[in-house]
Amino acid sequence: MGFQFLTQLPKPREIKAQYPVPEDIKKIKEKRDQELADILTGKDDRFILIIGPCSADNEEALLDYCSRLKVVADKVKDKIMIVPRVYTNKPRTTGKGYKGMLHQPDPEKPTDMMAGLIAIRQMHIHVIEQTGMTCADEMLYPENHWYLNDVLSYNAIGARSVENQGHRLVSSGVDGPVGMKNPTSGDFSVMLNSIEAAQAKQQFIYRGWDVKTDGNPLAHAILRGAVNKHGQNNPNYHYEDLIRLYNMYQERDLANPACIVDCNHNNSGKKYEQQVRIAKEIMNSRQYSSEIHDLVKGLMIESYIEPGAQKVGEGIYGKSITDPCLGWDQSEALILDIANRV
Ligand code: PEP
Ligand code: MN
Repeated sequence: MGFQFLTQLPKPREIKAQYPVPEDIKKIKEKRDQELADILTGKDDRFILIIGPCSADNEEALLDYCSRLKVVADKVKDKIMIVPRVYTNKPRTTGKGYKGMLHQPDPEKPTDMMAGLIAIRQMHIHVIEQTGMTCADEMLYPENHWYLNDVLSYNAIGARSVENQGHRLVSSGVDGPVGMKNPTSGDFSVMLNSIEAAQAKQQFIYRGWDVKTDGNPLAHAILRGAVNKHGQNNPNYHYEDLIRLYNMYQERDLANPACIVDCNHNNSGKKYEQQVRIAKEIMNSRQYSSEIHDLVKGLMIESYIEPGAQKVGEGIYGKSITDPCLGWDQSEALILDIANRV
């Protein structure tokens, strides 16, 4: 037997009944969802900043980070809508290693999916309770979307998932923005195909049901850089890349053409400190070109308390155990700087 069935996990509605979302949080989410929709549809000209660690590996450090973020978010709220990155599902290039709090609530202890499902739901609720900010997560496993859909304000489809039909069809039923990353190969048409699929009405099998979706007009692009056939880094945040995406959007009949630029990953070549320069370059391109200004609705930045990254087990508080992140002081300065350039 290649498979062992270990534990039958509760259904989303069972976990939701056990760990419900308080009424005041429902209202916060409704308001923030509307704000994000208004930015993506061009009714609100503020800028979106999806910022936080590569992986939310530890609730205490994450809440500490988000509380700091809240103070800055209040300062820049007329210019920027901050959406904390609370990523609990991590895709891995080779499928090995830490796959997020969903798999391992404690990165130094064995995989425990039941505890993970509870830990990620509670952490998302705690962030909203403490800061009033609903967050972004990656939709790594589309069948798990309903465990968190009442707390998340933003879902990203990763570079390794964007070509997958299951991710696309489930995105078509998500209430709220779904960011489709360019694939690791960098092909924009794969990303735009994914947006097209997510914006369409669909019918498919989901969690044992025949389901229908309405189509998601808030599905949009995320540029994260690429790797070429020689394994070299190919950034796609430059002026010419943004104009190319603008033109490719023009050739298609898609609702709400929009793009978030991810400043880390293959855009920085994981030289995390370069995110500062990259963010500033994008803000310049936005000031220079009205097309880019209208297209680029926000940035994604990987940021935590301590700069860089560490291995699991090193135990440095607030330091990433996946991709290297900008430290807090630099992140705070960058947010204030971006606010001046919106
Ligand atoms: C991430 O956002 O941490 C991530 C893994 O992104 P990508 O899918 O672009 O590699
Ligand atoms: Mn990352």
